[in-house]
Amino acid sequence: MGVDMAECIFCKIISGQIPSAIVHSDDNFFVFLDINPANKGHTLVIPKKHYETFNDMPAEEVWHLFETVQKVSKAVEKGLRADGYNILISNKRPAGQEVDHIHVHVIPRYKGDEMAVRLGWNYKKYDEGEAKAVADRIKKNL
Ligand code: 5GP
Ligand code: ZN
Repeated sequence: MGVDMAECIFCKIISGQIPSAIVHSDDNFFVFLDINPANKGHTLVIPKKHYETFNDMPAEEVWHLFETVQKVSKAVEKGLRADGYNILISNKRPAGQEVDHIHVHVIPRYKGDEMAVRLGWNYKKYDEGEAKAVADRIKKNL
């Protein structure tokens, strides 16, 4: 992980060096269309400040990020007459993160759409007592 900020494709999109279909821009956040949409209207919400992953963002900025994500989600749903939407953040390579500048995907969904990203199609099963142990491991790190 870790691309130099000067080489970051999303920093270049924010600065206008790389063109994009801009939905919104303010002091802190930039909102634009994904170039390879899972569904048309697939939108990305990013902080203007370069953070690699969700972990790297100060909590206060996460709060503001999600205020923007909620506004954008409602606008995507209403503006594109969607039946629902997914919100997704991929963190680090095994999770599918390709661009090392934190971004929130907002993807409009339609009844019966055949969208590629589908969580839960290959779900795992817990052994006896394992779910409690797993929950405890997370709890200890909160
Ligand atoms: P990730 O896989 O890191 O969660 O998502 C990166 C997203 O950025 C992908 O969905 C990809 O289509 C999008 N993307 C990559 N390069 C560009 C670009 O140059 N312009 C735009 N608009 N989107 C991009
Ligand atoms: Zn960046």
